[in-house]
Amino acid sequence: QSVIHLEDIRKSYFIGKNELPVLKGVTLDILKNEYVALMGPSGSGKSTLMNILGALDTPTSGKYILSGHDVSRMEDNELARIRNQEIGFVFQQFNLMPRLSALENVAVPLIYAGIGKKEREEKARHMLERVGLGDRYKHKPNELSGGQCQRVAIARALVNDPSLILADEPTGNLDTKTSVEIMEIFGRIHASGNTVVLVTHEEDIADHAHRVIRLRDGVMESDKLNPVKSLAH
Ligand code: ADP
Ligand code: ADP
Repeated sequence: QSVIHLEDIRKSYFIGKNELPVLKGVTLDILKNEYVALMGPSGSGKSTLMNILGALDTPTSGKYILSGHDVSRMEDNELARIRNQEIGFVFQQFNLMPRLSALENVAVPLIYAGIGKKEREEKARHMLERVGLGDRYKHKPNELSGGQCQRVAIARALVNDPSLILADEPTGNLDTKTSVEIMEIFGRIHASGNTVVLVTHEEDIADHAHRVIRLRDGVMESDKLNPVKSLAH
């Protein structure tokens, strides 16, 4: 059962009249409950691919089916709905709203989903407990450490129970010890049945995944199962 089905995805940026091809035909299936690390040199197209997977951007050509929805044919308003309902995105820079408390940040996707205030607060509180921040729900981002901010962002990504969790260098701004803690949370997210795609430059972060896909110059250079992890899977 594919959560992600990509067929010959191409993406070019146009700078004036000049076409810069960035993705040059990516074909790929990711199954339910896979845990995939996406690697590759800077400029190889990882962020571009993640933005397409996350319905933040559309491909120039090719087909993208997410959980049965043809995302490559969607208008902006449909893309926004899919983003909110099917995708949880975790960024390197956390992307929290500075004026909102941890609880309010986690509840934002529930506002768009049309859920009432009391239920929003209960769900957001529950998600914060799941990431070990149950006692910090009133704190604002600037009153939290980087690792705690990333936990809030992870809780926000999970709160609508999306079919896909995407993380673009989620430990890129964190020290080693905090990175290990965040990777433990991703491990638990995956163990509870989620599908996870994570971009990283670091081999020891990629070692947490069951499958490692390497991009180079806009094409897939390799796609390998992680032997140790796949046995345990
Ligand atoms: P990362 O390698 O961490 O994914 P970014 O996605 O921020 O880094 O940027 C990757 C490359 O894309 C950089 O070389 C950056 O200069 C370039 N880039 C990002 N956004 C734009 C843009 N809007 N126009 C031109 N180049 C961009
Ligand atoms: P990676 O995440 O692997 O570092 P990116 O997907 O960020 O790679 O970038 C791939 C290429 O696309 C780079 O050459 C970058 O400069 C270019 N690029 C990325 N975003 C833009 C943009 N918005 N406009 C123009 N060029 C871009």
